Amino acid sequence: MCKPRYKRVMLKLSGEALAADKGYGIDFDVTNKIAEEIKALVDMGVEVGAVVGAGNIWRGRSGEGMDRTTADYMGMLATCINALALQDSLENIGVNTRVQTAIEMREVAEPFIRRRAMRHLEKSRVVIFGAGTGNPYFSTDTAAALRAAEIEADVILLAKKVDGVYDKDPHRYSDAVKFNKLSYIEVLEKGLQVMDSTATSLCMDNDIPILVFGLDNPENIRKAILGEEIGTLVCKE
Ligand code: UDP
Repeated sequence: MCKPRYKRVMLKLSGEALAADKGYGIDFDVTNKIAEEIKALVDMGVEVGAVVGAGNIWRGRSGEGMDRTTADYMGMLATCINALALQDSLENIGVNTRVQTAIEMREVAEPFIRRRAMRHLEKSRVVIFGAGTGNPYFSTDTAAALRAAEIEADVILLAKKVDGVYDKDPHRYSDAVKFNKLSYIEVLEKGLQVMDSTATSLCMDNDIPILVFGLDNPENIRKAILGEEIGTLVCKE
């Protein structure tokens, strides 16, 4: 078996990725496939943390006319629904998991406790971080960057609908060019749609590389770990 390139990773899955073609809700065929890929990483000895978004259920900006903070809390709660769905798919195939949430819901999941999360990872348990950062006005990308820094992850694996970072929307422009490597500054200066600027800055300040790749094929998660040249790597230079 090839040697994994990273020891501890933070996998960021957008809510949309879980909905697949349905666009809304959770497609369990998809979560099951993602779970299989995560299991392959765990079997290789990789420690896996995961942050899930909620775009398949609710985003703060969906609440037009609503109080923004309330709408954001709804988004954070929605991430917990996705976290439990992913947990279920993982546990069904024998992967040990814990969900830790940034908003306490002790009957459902553990509260986020960094040292405990680290211990779970060391014991090969997949830790799924729910409820984002626990604060409105942030995104789950920022939650992924924050938790990655806290758990000392080697990389953020940013699973997207597109297979990397392009100079313009590849769905709209046939001449869009894909970048293989970018610096954080280039992402910020060019306003490229990788992560929001808060999340990108946090990664830059803490020197956490971001590997952006497409989840159209869940096997890409494994390829990324084994060092195959896929997607776009965002790093220092
Ligand atoms: N959210 C928040 N604070 C956080 C993380 C998320 O308020 O730290 C809310 C916000 O309203 C966001 C929603 O939860 O729109 C869902 O997260 P996100 O949009 O990042 O999901 P994704 O686009 O990854 O599916």
